[in-house]
Amino acid sequence: MSLENVHEEVPAERSPAALNESGVRAGGVSSQPLNVVAFKFGGSSLLGAERMLHAASLVRTAAAVSNVTVIVSAMKGVTDHLLSIARALADGKLVHARREVEDLLALHLDVLRDLHLEEDDDLRIRRELKLLGADLLHEVPAEGRLAASAELFDRLASFGERLSARLFAAALEKSGIAAVPVASSDFVVTCENFRDAQPHLEQTRQRGRAVLLPLLEDGIVPVVTGFIGATPDGRITTLGRNSSDFSGAIIAHVVDAEELVIWTDVDGIYTANPNESAEARLLHELSYDEAHALAAGGAKVLHAKVLPLAAETEMVVWVRNTFNPQARGTRIGPVQQEELA
Ligand code: ASP
Ligand code: MG
Repeated sequence: MSLENVHEEVPAERSPAALNESGVRAGGVSSQPLNVVAFKFGGSSLLGAERMLHAASLVRTAAAVSNVTVIVSAMKGVTDHLLSIARALADGKLVHARREVEDLLALHLDVLRDLHLEEDDDLRIRRELKLLGADLLHEVPAEGRLAASAELFDRLASFGERLSARLFAAALEKSGIAAVPVASSDFVVTCENFRDAQPHLEQTRQRGRAVLLPLLEDGIVPVVTGFIGATPDGRITTLGRNSSDFSGAIIAHVVDAEELVIWTDVDGIYTANPNESAEARLLHELSYDEAHALAAGGAKVLHAKVLPLAAETEMVVWVRNTFNPQARGTRIGPVQQEELA
């Protein structure tokens, strides 16, 4: 385990986002194996047009030298909002629910406006967002109340990532990166345990590769919704609250990414909460076991299912700060050769 003082920074020499823009793009030639990194952005990294464009600039830097697959959360606060709409439907508060749906759509349309896209693009994305809004509104019955089923909660909660994926793909396009939104419910196959569904990894991998590899081979960045999957018969599920880190690991595994970067709003993993303890130290290198021990000791490290999957597939996971990309972040992975020497 390597420690650094909280405010110290070391060069980001082994981090994909440190790659410079003059790098020659690898991959794209189908006879060669693709060199892929997966970037997962959390809800605070996507809150508003300015943050989306900043996150897009991190993707652009990495895309100069690798194929990039992006996994997104909903914008911060949106999942809670959607779940409160589901509760309103179950309580028969239909007028309230309808108004809340309209507010949520307006919030996303405001972000679109602030992206200042070309007129055609703006119109196209506006239409797509409005279609999603209409689908959401369609969940509000004319009268009565809906049964408060876990399935209803998942179906409503899924709209947050579906909306943010469209907006983030638009932010990438605006930044000169070819990108398309991809619904993970098209290939993440899960059990029927709504609100905490388990993915069937092998099936997900097979189906996911058919969806994602052709895009990567064409140099297009897939912007995949975190959090959601679907049952084999196509009903939307979620992998549980805060599970888009886990989605990041699943999708990184699907595309055989060499690295998964979890972009968040802190510089990495600390020995203690840096807001509460002056003794908190930033950890630069962790083995899977060390990270697991920290999580077991109560540290808020990553979603609990990330590390087992990363360890099993020997994927390197970085935790990095979207708002301070100069900081190297924390690397969790197999012990590196130079450390063994
Ligand atoms: N949007 C989902 C949630 O708020 C998943 C995530 O952000 O990780 O739980
Ligand atoms: Mg999160």
